[in-house]
Formats: sequence, structure tokens, C-alpha cells
Amino acid sequence: MTDRMLIKDAIVLTQDPALGELPKADVLIEGDTITAVEPNLSADDARVIEAAGDIVIPGFIDTHRHTWETSIRTCAPDFALITYFGSILDKFAPHYRPDDVYAGNLWGSLECLNAGITTLVDWSHIMNTPDHADEAIRGLHESGIRSVFAYGFPNTSLQDWWFGPDFAGSELTTDGAEARRLRTQYFNSDDGLITMGLATRGPGFCKPDVVRHDWELAKELGVNITVHVAMDRFGYTKLQLIALRDMDLLYPGTTYVHASHFTDEEWALARDSGGNVSFAPQIEIQMGHGWAPAVSAVAYDVPIGLSSDVATTAPSDQFTQMRSIFGSERGRKHQEAWDASLDGLQASPGLITARQVLSWATIGGAEVAGIADRTGSLTPGKKADIVVIDGSAVNVAPIIDPVGAVVCAADVSNVKTVLVGGQVVKQDFRLTASLDEPRRAVEASRDYLLSKFGDPEPGWLPVSASA
Ligand SMILES: [Zn+2]
Repeated sequence: MTDRMLIKDAIVLTQDPALGELPKADVLIEGDTITAVEPNLSADDARVIEAAGDIVIPGFIDTHRHTWETSIRTCAPDFALITYFGSILDKFAPHYRPDDVYAGNLWGSLECLNAGITTLVDWSHIMNTPDHADEAIRGLHESGIRSVFAYGFPNTSLQDWWFGPDFAGSELTTDGAEARRLRTQYFNSDDGLITMGLATRGPGFCKPDVVRHDWELAKELGVNITVHVAMDRFGYTKLQLIALRDMDLLYPGTTYVHASHFTDEEWALARDSGGNVSFAPQIEIQMGHGWAPAVSAVAYDVPIGLSSDVATTAPSDQFTQMRSIFGSERGRKHQEAWDASLDGLQASPGLITARQVLSWATIGGAEVAGIADRTGSLTPGKKADIVVIDGSAVNVAPIIDPVGAVVCAADVSNVKTVLVGGQVVKQDFRLTASLDEPRRAVEASRDYLLSKFGDPEPGWLPVSASA
């Protein structure tokens, strides 16, 4: 078996500004690394993947997903954020066993690979016991996905871990000893397929001493922070960056998730401190967090990644996120033009483009995940995280603008071949991994979690129907 692979004659959207978009080119992979991207490469001993007429892109990056919630997928299609906390987090999370976290993480990671997501930031706020952490990591590991395991905190009680007894914040810190154990046991190198981050709550959710503890823990561990901010018009997520600035805790590489209601001052603080944002547009507009303010992030030059957030309420693939932000951010600019009574026959100013959207789903996401040195673009020297999209599919052909084809036409069913670090994890539209055992595990997890309640909620299948 050779360790060279050649993807032949594809339309290659490299997401590398120096290489650009190549209408017909080859991608050479040696071992786990991309070694050349150019037309007419020859590699006699390489395994060849014929891709004439297909579109090759870097693997998508999901910059924020609570992967453990995969076992309760679409249980709450009509929820708003306000109902999610009590009816999802406080209802299901305390019952989660390590087995449930494993099943959710494995199934969610396989879902990612199937959808062309080669890197996942697993925002794991289900650290109810040390075994929960071990099983979360095992699920990621077994799938073969590249990931950032963002170690979080327990979700054993909404009152303890989110809002505190007086709504002024939790008294409880992230478990520093446990975070140190995981850093040593699993993540003593930052070069592995899975690396570590710290998923924290931040000002508004915690007392200042707790915030300081968690931020200093991240610094001690040498890992990036990911934190939900400005995600609602409620007071508790307002002006969190101002609070962090006042505590001197604005760290470079921090991911601010949602950022729906950042003030101009907060955008400037995010930029000046080297922060970035993760938008989950389908969730944000569907559940009422706010708009996904990509236009503001671009104006302030803050890196953007896209994310799926929760499987309880929306699809988790990046095609959905791209189209959601493309439609919603353009919709907002159109509305501004309508409100200003601009001539209806002229284009609204300041519209985002399909090329921007694709870059956020790939290289932008890699910057947000903190691993743009190794993934996010088809750049020689980077890891071979690659997706081949079927250009002949009935919903994709004929292709005129290949970026338009990916952003405005393709979907998960068109993801033909997926490589992670040079390993083929999907070929000819089928994952190489067997799905039988992981599906049984996630269905058993669902059955266990639902058994904790009495009658099903309106709309839910009776437990007997799913057996
Ligand atoms: Zn989230």
C-alpha cells in the first residue's frame, strides 16, 4: 500500500490566497500531508482518486458544537434560547452517563465526517465526572476526526453551574485538577489529531473570582478559551468583554461564541486582543440569540468561524450554516437599504459574498480553532484534510461558479470523498467506518435518557415506537 495519493483533474478551491481557485488541478498527498497542488502532477506509484468535474475543498471546520447532545437530536425543534436552558440543559444533562457522552460524541463525529467536516471543536460542558471526560475523548478518538476537545464543566444543575443562587453567577470553578489530568494524560503534545481547549462560562454566569480562576487555568495549561458571549438581550450576557477587559483577561486566541449583541467597543476589544468569533447562524436566528453579525466582524477584522452549536434544534452540517448566514446577513443589509429608501433596482451596499462564506466555513474556522497552521486550506505542508464534492449530482451540475456550487447548491448528499490527515474516512459516498454499533449505542442512549421522564413531550414518539 502506497502512502502517496493523487486527486486528479478536480476544480480545486484551495482557500490559500497564494494558490487561489484552480479550474483543473491535482492534489498530491504524501502520508498525512499535502505536498503539491497544481495541474498535471505525475506520481507513478500514487493511489489515484479521479475527480474530473468534481470540486475539491479543504475539510469544513465546525468551531463550536455540544457534541454530547447528538443523542437527543431534534427533540426541541421549536425551542427558543430561553426555553433551552431549563428544558434541555437542566432536564437531560444531569442524567447523562459516561456511556451517553461516548455515544453522542462518536455519532456526532461520524456525522461530521459524513458531511465533510474534518475538524470539530467539541464544546464539552458535560463533565459531570472524570469518566464523562474520558468517554467524550474516546468518542472523538474512535471516529478519526480532527478535533479540539474543549474541556468544560459539569451540567448537573442549572442553578449551580449557570446562574447561581442569586442570579449573580456561579460560585463553582472549572475543575483545575481534572483539567490538568487530561492535559497530561491525553494532550501532552499540541500536534496530535485531538488537541485541548477550555470551554468556560465567563462574566455574567460566574462570580469574578471564578472567572479569574478559569482564565488563569487556561493560561497555565497553555490552551485557548472558548466562551459564549452576548448571546441574548438579557443582562447576563451583556458587556462581557468589557468585564473581561476590566479584569485584564482578554487573551489572544479566545473564541467568542455567538457575539450577537457586541457593542462597537467590544468588537474593537476582540480585534485588539487577538480574539475571534464563532457564529452558529441557523441556531442564532432560529432560537432568537440575535443575528450572526458577520458584517460587523468583517468591518472590525475579527476572524470568523461557523458552527452548529446544538443538534437538538437545527441541522449540524456546514452547508446549513453557510446558507443561513449568507441569507440572514444579506437580508439585514437589504432591509437597511429598503429602510433608507434606496432605489429598489440597485444592489444593496455592503452585502457579504459566497467566497467570504466559504472561507469562514474552512480557513476562517481553522483560525478560530487555533490550528490554521495545519488545516483549513489546501496548502502544501498542511495536513491532508480534504473533501471532494460530486460535481455531477442532479442538484449541483452544471457548474459555472464552483464557489456558488458549494455555497448555494451542494449539500451533505454530495460529499463524495473525505480525508482526515491523509486517511480516507469516506469514499464513494460511504463512510469507511461501520455505523451499526455506533447507531445502536446512540439509540440506546436516547432510550435511556427518555426513560428518565414520564410521558413523552408533545410531538415525541412514544418510547415503544422507537424500539
Ligand atoms: Zn453553544
